Amino acid sequence: MDFNKTRYIPMSRRRRIYEGKAKVLYEGPEPGTLIQHFKDDATAFNAKKHQVIEGKGVLNNRISEYIFQHLNDIGVPTHFIRRLNMREQLIREVEIVPLEVVVRNVAAGSLSQRLGIEEGTQLPRSIIEFYYKNDQLNDPMVSEEHITAFGWATPQEIDDIMALAIRVNDFLSGLFLGIGIRLVDFKMECGRLFENEMVRIIVADEISPDSCRLWDVKSNEKLDKDRFRRDLGGLVEAYTEVAKRLGIMSENERPAGAGPVLVKG
Ligand code: UDP
Repeated sequence: MDFNKTRYIPMSRRRRIYEGKAKVLYEGPEPGTLIQHFKDDATAFNAKKHQVIEGKGVLNNRISEYIFQHLNDIGVPTHFIRRLNMREQLIREVEIVPLEVVVRNVAAGSLSQRLGIEEGTQLPRSIIEFYYKNDQLNDPMVSEEHITAFGWATPQEIDDIMALAIRVNDFLSGLFLGIGIRLVDFKMECGRLFENEMVRIIVADEISPDSCRLWDVKSNEKLDKDRFRRDLGGLVEAYTEVAKRLGIMSENERPAGAGPVLVKG
């Protein structure tokens, strides 16, 4: 299939498949593909807190593209095909496994609260946790026993998910350390890709400062969604800093929405 020749479908005629808190999924140009659209909405505490933050969607689209493209390049399978425009990317359609897979390197957030471990404490080893994706239940933490007993994933799938999570964590930890950022923790989601009578688990959804905790190595400044959760302000500036350090945005690239600029000859 040639994904480079994408048929143009006007936004108004596209079929919307699913709308989430921060993204919308539309029908894709070819069977087995979808278009993932990044909105500017920020939510926290199970959507009890909500705000539109102009520019967030554009930044997450670019940062997630960068991460997923590199994962594809090192042989970690993902749903990402290519970015289409400022807010959208072409992805493979998968059946989402109803789990949030959290990998932690440093204590923070719910782990610190639940177990009384001070935020910032380096963990003795990386820890993988599973949460059942269910807004009504507030995404409760579950064990492998729950996952297999209730059929959310098979034991083999859990093994595959954990192997992927470790590879993603190793890649991301190195990537971010190289640009002076500590990967404290992150959340990923997986999907089942049905291909030639076979099913395999691949990385899906997004990986961005919305789903990671990223701390500046030197100052410990938070460069992630905790700026919104904890009312610290400066979220777009922090995400822009991450994008710049990754080399995605040039130093003087203007934020989205600014008017035309006179190019001096
Ligand atoms: N996370 C996420 N979506 C969620 C819950 C958590 O992306 O619905 C991410 C969060 O950004 C952090 C990691 O998963 O990087 C661990 O989050 P934690 O369990 O500490 O929960 P929180 O403190 O965010 O409620």
